[in-house]
Amino acid sequence: MDCIFCRIVQGEIPCKEVYRDEHVLAFKDIHPKAPVHTLVVPRKHIPDANGLAGVDPVLAARLLSALAKVAEIEGVAEKGYRVILNCGPEGGQEVGHLHFHVLGGRPMGPMVCR
Ligand code: AMP
Repeated sequence: MDCIFCRIVQGEIPCKEVYRDEHVLAFKDIHPKAPVHTLVVPRKHIPDANGLAGVDPVLAARLLSALAKVAEIEGVAEKGYRVILNCGPEGGQEVGHLHFHVLGGRPMGPMVCR
């Protein structure tokens, strides 16, 4: 298994866990870009956002629900936060296991920088 996030899900690589349930794991990004930077991943291996088209929509809903839970746990739900989902090379995806970035704890600025 060469997927780093699968290995984190399996407990083979340590992480700073923020939230877990039967289908989802959330943990701190190892190179945070904001005071709050947490990754939300499905426990099942899905390579990228395109893979969501072929999965049970209930899993997609569970992931979205987990984003809100993570924001609450991280204390940014009220002030606000940003969710980023990079997909593919031009989307800036580096790890080939679907993940959402939850970023907050400061004003996040413009949505996209040139
Ligand atoms: P992306 O560019 O959207 O694929 O984002 C991948 C993210 O995974 C980056 O923000 C990395 O800092 C993060 N990352 C890579 N390895 C680890 C790890 N072992 N634990 C936590 N975060 C990681």
